[in-house]
Order: sequence, then C-alpha cells, then structure tokens
Amino acid sequence: MNRFQLIFCFVLLGIFLIATPSHAQQTPSQEEIYAQRMSYYYEFESPIVPWYYLAAIDQYERNIQAVRKDLATREGILSIQFPSHFWSGPFNPSVEDTSPATIAYFGGHGLDGNEDGIADQTQDADVLRTLVGYLHQAHREAGTFQAALEKYYENEQAINQIHVIANIYKKYNTVALAERAFPIPIRANYSYKGTWGASRGWGGRRMHEGTDLFASYGTPVHSTSYGVIEVMGWNEYGGWRIGIRDLYNTYHYYAHLSSFHPDLAIGDIVEPGTIIGYVGSSGYGKEGTSGKFPPHLHYGMYKFDGRTEWAFDPFPSLLIWERQAKKKN
Ligand SMILES: [Zn+2]
Repeated sequence: MNRFQLIFCFVLLGIFLIATPSHAQQTPSQEEIYAQRMSYYYEFESPIVPWYYLAAIDQYERNIQAVRKDLATREGILSIQFPSHFWSGPFNPSVEDTSPATIAYFGGHGLDGNEDGIADQTQDADVLRTLVGYLHQAHREAGTFQAALEKYYENEQAINQIHVIANIYKKYNTVALAERAFPIPIRANYSYKGTWGASRGWGGRRMHEGTDLFASYGTPVHSTSYGVIEVMGWNEYGGWRIGIRDLYNTYHYYAHLSSFHPDLAIGDIVEPGTIIGYVGSSGYGKEGTSGKFPPHLHYGMYKFDGRTEWAFDPFPSLLIWERQAKKKN
C-alpha cells in the first residue's frame, strides 16, 4: 500500500467515524432518564425538601406543560421552570441575567447549582438548586413546608396534586411508575366502544363524559394506574363510584359499581391492577338505586392543567391498555 492509498484509507475511516452516531449521542431510554432524574433529586434534597417532593414538583410541571399551550415545554432532564422575573429579579434590567451577584442584588431567586459561576435556567442543576433555595426561604418565613408550597403555587388543587405524586413516589421509592392496566380482567366477558360525546337522557342534557365497559354483575374492576383514592361513595348519577388521582394530573372516575373492595378507603394508594370494586348498575337515583340500566363500568378521565379540570376521551387509552394486557397474557 503506498502513501496515497494509506491517506485515502484514513479519510474513509474518518468519514465512517463521523457518520456513525456514537452511543453518547443516542437519545437516552426512559429508564436512563428516570435514573438521571433520581440522581438530581438525591443530590439536591434536604431534610425540609425530601427527594420525592422535588420529584413530585418536577412531574407536576411536566404534566401541565404537556397540556398547556401558554407554557413552554422545558428542554432537559427536568421540567421545573420559572418566569424570567422570578429568576432574575423583578427590577433587573437584564431579564435573562445569569450572574448570581446581580440576580441576588435585584431580588431574583436564580442560583448556581453546578458551581460553574453562572445561574442559568437552561441547566438542570441550577433549576433544582433554585427551587430548593426558594422553598427553604419560604419555609423559614412561613413556618411549615405546606405553607412554603402554598406560597409557591397559591393553588389548592395544584398542591393536592403534588402531595398525591409525592406520596406515591415515597411509597415505591422510585419515579419509574409508568405501568398501566386495563380496568376489566382481559379474560372476562366485556364489550366497549368509543361513545365519547353521546347524549344522556337522564338528569337533563348532559354529555357522556367517558367510556362504558359492559360486563356481568360482580366482574372485578381494576385501577388503571398508580394513584390515591380521592373520592369513594354515592353520587346520584354515578351510583357507587370511586375517584383516583394519578401521577399525570389525571383523575380517574369509576362509576355504577355494585360494591367497593372492602379493604379500601379514601387516601389509600392503589396500583395498576388493584381491585377497587365490582361491576354493577348502581346510580340514577337516591342512594342504593340499582338496575335502571344494564351492568357496566363507566370510566371517565379528567385532566388538571394547573387551572381547571376537563374531561377527555378515555377510549384511545383503553385500546392501548387492552392491547398491552393481551400481550402479557
Ligand atoms: Zn357511562
């Protein structure tokens, strides 16, 4: 091989190396993202702000960014973000200031978390350090962690949702809880179709907010997600119904049950597949009314976007969970 051939080979090798994406450039898997988040939470947690509250606030912010058009979706491993005046200070002439000294001078909250000398909102460590710093200060001023959270969010529903997420993460000691389940046992006799928006005759003109899954009396009803039981009891439309809030700002509504699982109470944490009750035909009247329609599970999903809660169609999700459940079987 002469010199020119050798150079040609090196050029080819160079092109090959540039054109082949290295492992580091590949998008991380969901498991890797969970692990990176956990290491951030552990690095910045404190006795006042334990890791599962950092994780819950981060997840809450991710949830609202996914559904709100007026909020930017933060790029990065973490989703926590602040308005620029919160970061740089209300009277700071430099809105995008990254100097810790001038930010502090103008009363901004932005801090340097990775000790590179700048307080930069695009850096995950800086964002987490800033959140912890703010909550510590609010805790000192207001006296309790709850009061510090209230000062930050000023929204009871938001804080309730954050407690729900934190309690679930704490119990399972991880944020890797994406598993789902179909609400009816896959081997049972059942049928359902997409009836979103169909009108209902009873109780005036109401839109049908959910999916009806027809099955025999007594068929077990499973929770579709990790969540906390928020509501459990009688409602004149839903009969015996149970409401569960999950990790994704979604409230799951299971109605017309014949009975609840006897071991469950409001505040309990459930998992995907936990039996929460049994199919029935309760509802459309005063407590105990039953049999006014064929037995079925009415399943509804409601999204909290940080301001209001609205119903969305559960049918597409049900199709996915059913397919996953059939694959497992
Ligand atoms: Zn229904």
